[in-house]
Amino acid sequence: MSEDIPFDKSFDLPPDRVEEVMPGVRRMLVSNPGPFTFKGTLSYVVGTGRVAIIDPGPIDEAHIAALLDAVRGETVSHILVTHTHRDHSPAAARIKAATGAMTCGEGPHRAARALHVGEAPRLEASADRDFHPDVALADGETVTGPGWALEAVTTPGHTANHMAFALKDTGVLFSGDHVMAWSTPIVAPPDGAMSDYMASLEKLGRRAETMYFPGHGGAVRDAPRFVQQYIRHRRAREASILKRLAVGEADIPTLVGSIYIGLDPRLTKAAGLSVLAHLEDLTARGLVVTQGTPSIEGRYRRS
Ligand SMILES: [Zn+2]
Repeated sequence: MSEDIPFDKSFDLPPDRVEEVMPGVRRMLVSNPGPFTFKGTLSYVVGTGRVAIIDPGPIDEAHIAALLDAVRGETVSHILVTHTHRDHSPAAARIKAATGAMTCGEGPHRAARALHVGEAPRLEASADRDFHPDVALADGETVTGPGWALEAVTTPGHTANHMAFALKDTGVLFSGDHVMAWSTPIVAPPDGAMSDYMASLEKLGRRAETMYFPGHGGAVRDAPRFVQQYIRHRRAREASILKRLAVGEADIPTLVGSIYIGLDPRLTKAAGLSVLAHLEDLTARGLVVTQGTPSIEGRYRRS
């Protein structure tokens, strides 16, 4: 799948080792590899002396200890969270308790839409409902320290509260799970919404930053071009769904089978949710019809 995007899967950082990726930016890998997390989640430290931590990660004792060790002798003023999935935000409370830093993010976890009857969040990388930021950041708001300023950029889609952070005057943006070099992220209802996701890609596509540091894997270079490839990829996925439905009515497993060739079996459920995200969007746009609200069990046809 996704051969149309030039993915970069080279990434070689051992867990819990500090690496400086540019002056004033360090990163550290959590030992939580998997089909959704690639080699693991990345925590970033921005600044020197008085610093911000972006995405402290899951409750992983070795990682929390290594992260605190990395900033020993420094002051952590802010803990920024890109989104409330369990591999990104839960350690915020522990880092806050140890450092006194204030936590910042778009807001607590929420679904992108109301849940249907009997529906529950279904993915392994599920929600951290305990995270409530001390400071709820609005789009464009800036958090600063000596020699650095991070601008909050709301990027809903992967989750409703997803936020990227632009490191001002450097051409760098911390993209969380919104844009990554190794893969496209899962956009799975009810946490995620495809229409929001596409709008957030268009928004990043209009920005000037050229290098992204994502929540998983290596840096995205030539970012504006990469974002356009992401957009084209999602449009192509949408076109394949419409093409298959033009042949006749289908359910989601049938669509997954016809669209994703050579899919990692561990990702079948996620692929189904991704297709559901497209179908919600296509139904809202009047291009596809189904009985009642779009659901994972539904059957779909062209309108
Ligand atoms: Zn996530």
